[in-house]
Amino acid sequence: MIIHMRKIAIATVLLIAVIAASCCTPKQSNTVSAQAAQESISLPIVMYHAVLKSRRGKYTIHPTELERDIIAYKEMGYTPVFLREVADWVNRKGGLPEKPMVITFDDGHYNNLYYALPILQKHNCKVVINIVTSFSRHSTETPGEAENPNFSYLTWNNIRELQKSGLVEIGNHTHAMHKFKPRYGIAQVSNETVDEYKETLRKDLETANNYLTQNAGVPRPVTFAYPFGRYTKEGHEVLKELGFKAILTCNEGITQIRRGDPEALLTLKRYNRSGNVSHESFMKKVFKSD
Ligand SMILES: [Zn+2]
Repeated sequence: MIIHMRKIAIATVLLIAVIAASCCTPKQSNTVSAQAAQESISLPIVMYHAVLKSRRGKYTIHPTELERDIIAYKEMGYTPVFLREVADWVNRKGGLPEKPMVITFDDGHYNNLYYALPILQKHNCKVVINIVTSFSRHSTETPGEAENPNFSYLTWNNIRELQKSGLVEIGNHTHAMHKFKPRYGIAQVSNETVDEYKETLRKDLETANNYLTQNAGVPRPVTFAYPFGRYTKEGHEVLKELGFKAILTCNEGITQIRRGDPEALLTLKRYNRSGNVSHESFMKKVFKSD
């Protein structure tokens, strides 16, 4: 009887401890228990474009700065992951590290292979590269247009090489809608009906998917990035119909994602890493609370 009573007492103490722990965890974002961390996650996403030594700008960063950023992410305890992995986690098909984040590169610049890949390999860092397939086709098919870090886009073989590294997920950034005219990104134009618009968009996105799977040999993309961040309600519907699971906007902020809630992945926020701001001020802007 005494032994039995002691067991109950121990069980009660343990129960109180568990309740106390679970009550405290939501406020301690960096030290949440494994269980809490796996139900809801703040997902920082950063956006890069070109990586060059010769110039810098809003969409161009020096390789040394890129490496500083990556080292800092890791020092803060973040693990860069693919959006494909994030989607699997949300759909209860896989796990994620304790503090995941996503590093994206838009447009498919050749310098992503030339300057960024060696840095990614050195730090074992995963990224998502969103390709504009008409740009890649141009670099692949036009003599003199390939493999110049200053202006080339990734050819099909370049994309294949990135994919082979195991550190790159390839996303869709449209085939030929990365333009300001006649339409601004994927926006609808005035002389087309909603149905015509949806059909044009669908065809463009499928063209990009086909080039990536058939010419570059990558898995069918699950990630899409809106050119210039421009999105529409109808466009969103088309993307969902085509099976994209992670959709990147250019709205700044951190998206809260939850297991069993795939909708949150369809309007992901991210921060552009301009080459015109210092490493320190960018880190401060994105990771205010860390
Ligand atoms: Zn772009």
